[in-house]
Amino acid sequence: MPVSNTYDGLSGHTNNQIAKEKKVASHGSLLTKSNGEDRSFVKMMGKGFEKIKAKTTPAPGPVETRVFDSNSGSYCSHNRPGSFAPNDRFVFVDVNKQVHRGLVKYTGIFPQSHLENYIGVEFDEPIGKGDGICSGKQMFNSKDNHAGLIHASMCKKELEYERDLKEVVKTSHNIDQIRLSPKIDKGETVMINHLGYNFIGRVITHFYNSSNINSKWVVCQLLNAKVPENWKKLDNKDRPFCPDSAIHMLEAKPDQCTIVPLDCISPYIEVLTNGNSSMKAEPITSLPSYSANNLSYAPNNSNYGSNYLPPSYADSQRSTPQVQSYNGNGHLKNFGSIDSGIEDRPAMPCRDFDALYGKMKGIQGHNNSCYLDATLYTMFLQSNIFDDLILNKKRDADDIPEFEEAQRILKSEIVYPLRKFHFVRADHVLKLRILLGKVLNDQVGMTSDEKDPEEFMTALFEKVFKVKPLLRLQNMSDNKAHDTYLCPLIADDAWTPRQLQLMNLQYLFDRSMYSSSVEFANIPKVLIVQLPRSAEQKVFDRILPTMTLDISSFLHNTVRPCGFCRKAPAKLKCNECFLTKESYMKDVTFCQNCFDKCHTDNEAHRHVPTIINSNSGQSPSNVLLKLSGVLCIETSHYVTFVNCNVNSATPETDKFVFFDSMADREGTTDGYNIPKVEPIPDVAKWLTADGACRLSSIIQDYGTLSDKSPEYHPKIKRLLNDCYICIYQYVDELNYNDANCMYGRTTSRV
Ligand SMILES: [Zn+2]
Ligand SMILES: [Zn+2]
Ligand SMILES: [Zn+2]
Repeated sequence: MPVSNTYDGLSGHTNNQIAKEKKVASHGSLLTKSNGEDRSFVKMMGKGFEKIKAKTTPAPGPVETRVFDSNSGSYCSHNRPGSFAPNDRFVFVDVNKQVHRGLVKYTGIFPQSHLENYIGVEFDEPIGKGDGICSGKQMFNSKDNHAGLIHASMCKKELEYERDLKEVVKTSHNIDQIRLSPKIDKGETVMINHLGYNFIGRVITHFYNSSNINSKWVVCQLLNAKVPENWKKLDNKDRPFCPDSAIHMLEAKPDQCTIVPLDCISPYIEVLTNGNSSMKAEPITSLPSYSANNLSYAPNNSNYGSNYLPPSYADSQRSTPQVQSYNGNGHLKNFGSIDSGIEDRPAMPCRDFDALYGKMKGIQGHNNSCYLDATLYTMFLQSNIFDDLILNKKRDADDIPEFEEAQRILKSEIVYPLRKFHFVRADHVLKLRILLGKVLNDQVGMTSDEKDPEEFMTALFEKVFKVKPLLRLQNMSDNKAHDTYLCPLIADDAWTPRQLQLMNLQYLFDRSMYSSSVEFANIPKVLIVQLPRSAEQKVFDRILPTMTLDISSFLHNTVRPCGFCRKAPAKLKCNECFLTKESYMKDVTFCQNCFDKCHTDNEAHRHVPTIINSNSGQSPSNVLLKLSGVLCIETSHYVTFVNCNVNSATPETDKFVFFDSMADREGTTDGYNIPKVEPIPDVAKWLTADGACRLSSIIQDYGTLSDKSPEYHPKIKRLLNDCYICIYQYVDELNYNDANCMYGRTTSRV
């Protein structure tokens, strides 16, 4: 059972021990009861005997409450039992980063000395054991199997936890200030200030020695120094409490690995400099042997990690914050900003859109990374639809060795910081590029060349994370299914001049699906549409990506409403109408009545309809996908428009932002890019049928869309001119509105 594995801490062992002892005891008592019978009889009776035993054994004694010790959680605080009161809501995040909540039940003293810093709780879910009994005594009351004893340092009040999740940082420059308490998760880099020394270290683990009050210890590896002689060594009192792997590290590398009290650990602060060159030189000489986390991936031994200095130094420079990163080649790689850092705690898309806008917002571009910056920003800023990539567990047999590292970088260095701080510094995306280059065997190209978003997405889905194809297409000519990630639209029809000037995506989509004679085998959760254009050659001058995409007409074996009366199920489809009129596919699907009504004149009378196959018994419904983002290309530079309200049921009022990872630049060769995010008003309004009509008539009147029109934001013109990849996603709220909807919230989709 996964739950019992999860809490394989010290007390877990103790519980197992107790359980084993109980078993032995019950067998013993049974043997004494069956007095005079020897063991061969017991063996002979076999299963029959087991049955008797089950009947005659008295009911098991009281179930002991499950203990969650100080190693069972994934964060640690200075909380003590006194930090809580009975009936407080609390949150506990286990070592697998699963969040559990519940009610504090008991904060008093336990008679057992090893439970000194524990509180009694009732979990919301049955992940505990028993109902509040400790050593046979009822210490508090809880629902059965919901009771737990948790080390208080592993718990947080629910209110505080929620507040931390929501904390919005107005500017990226404040990032270090919100990290007031050090994170002592494995792998975190921390400052260690102990017995007169100031070092940088990486956390190996932490443990709590319950034989010693308040003795929370952190096992660290020093990054820039040898362990001083007078620092504490691992002693025998600690051994039972320190995880074996950490003991091994301490013994294998006594020069680098050490144990320090929790109180000596503080959050790392990056080097802040005012740009004075003598100031820049100082941290480098003082940290000669520092190596960054993922140095092995770095090209030319460049180090895009950060330098660290004691907080006092950093504080004195805070007036003009500007962070320099040491690149190992004797000069500083300057990204012009404080590091966006590593954020392990899950972050959801933000609701305070004002926090998204501004300079140094979004993902910072570096060395032709715009295709990647724009794609990641579109996929993850406000949509959860691709979160499988960052949440799926590695499947040992199938997944690549780099899976976990790639996922960690994507999740903790890009997606979560982006959602939480709305900024990601360029070095984090570079790490992902370097890793991609390694996986795809294209070390040089991935880190310096301009690539295409579709190439990047396919690599991410297929090669790195091996996710299931997003689409299953049914070929109507040979009835074979075809799995794919992207949906490229083809444009091999004959188009009118007006259509060539402005095409709308729904129309193009219908024509393309029809020409390639494919349907969707099931409703896609996400549809990545690639528009027809090769390099700078465009088929259409402008394409208008409609806010919603109606895919009902192309859902295999499903009932759609008649396009004419919109009530009765459509039974017939007239391909001749579709080919001879400027119509959408849904306009040529009819119920029998409407088909007859629409085919009265001589010409149309000869149309031969095809029968729509569908599983009978369903009520007809339309399935709409919602536009979540548009990647644009202009002279091989990628930018993006992202829908901030992608999950809303009202597409017409959705708000969009425009993001360019290289909007501006500070300095020349040694400089850095300034990414920028700006709100674009009325995008959703223009991406409707009405908007399309208005824009089309402007083009007819003036021959083009003006740069300076009071009617629309200049970026609207850019959106239509340059759109290249549109991401549509299935939104429950949008389709659930329809009372006839057969695809309820619980329906599983691809
Ligand atoms: Zn009809
Ligand atoms: Zn017809
Ligand atoms: Zn570019």
